Amino acid sequence: MTSDEASRAAGLVREARSLFVLTGAGVSAESGVPTFRGDGGLWKEHRPEDLATPGAFRRDPRLVWEWYGWRRTRVARAAPNPGHRALARLALLRPGVTLVTQNVDALHEEALHEEALHEEAHREVAERGEVPDELRPIHLHGSLFRTRCTGCARGSSHSEAVDASSEASLPRCHACGELLRPDVVWFGESLPPAVLERSFEAAGRAEVALVVGTSAAVQPAASLPLATLEAGGDLIEVNPDPTPLSGRASVRLRGPAGTVLPDLVERVLEGR
Ligand code: NAD
Ligand code: ZN
Repeated sequence: MTSDEASRAAGLVREARSLFVLTGAGVSAESGVPTFRGDGGLWKEHRPEDLATPGAFRRDPRLVWEWYGWRRTRVARAAPNPGHRALARLALLRPGVTLVTQNVDALHEEALHEEALHEEAHREVAERGEVPDELRPIHLHGSLFRTRCTGCARGSSHSEAVDASSEASLPRCHACGELLRPDVVWFGESLPPAVLERSFEAAGRAEVALVVGTSAAVQPAASLPLATLEAGGDLIEVNPDPTPLSGRASVRLRGPAGTVLPDLVERVLEGR
């Protein structure tokens, strides 16, 4: 990344009235949460593509819950990194930012909460342990800390430890008694229509799409920045490696999110 590119990116972000931010597993990599496609994406020789599916859960819900239990523990141990914190500052300090994430961790929320404690305008909400509503990230693929009933589809917050030692000890729905599953979107499943609609609407309205740490291999998430481009906006990509979106980017910031984003956000806020 040259400082030329960084200042061009900062200029675009500063001038945009509306900014669409899309993040992927790469933004959490420096917090110690492995990406699916990088090193450490395997668990006990299983590939995520073989576990994060409705078929895998039907065949062996115990195994799938064991994997999610492991992922929850890893994520619960992780803390937001400077990349999450920079995005949180940007969202708190300038209007018009919509943050959409493919991640199922809660590191964006944690960063927003921590940064909000330092900002007069948001401190009151943060002291109640909450994130300002309008800044809450949209989770395209759900959350590790929610469950959904396989019977009645009821969703709820759930962060208690799951005993995956046998199928009989897996969590069940209080209302109908059926098995609970992680409330995440699995391979082969569609995204909740309302979530998708809000995301496409924000992407289409934005003058700049800032795309961070995603391989742009998973649809429809990878198409969201195209909505910004089609409406005449610019794309800025933050990723150490090229992706299928790189060719469409006005600026490519090649480096880890934890280094690139604090620099970018500092430049944006300095020039206000
Ligand atoms: P991915 O694993 O396909 O790609 C990760 C991308 O991040 C790659 O392009 C890589 O070059 C880039 N990257 C790696 N380190 C980076 C860094 N330090 N800074 C910036 N970029 C970095 O991830 P994806 O595109 O998000 O798609 C994978 C799917 O897996 C998503 O649907 C997501 O729900 C799920 N997933 C989520 C988490 C999480 O919640 N933290 C972790 C793994 C996978
Ligand atoms: Zn139920």
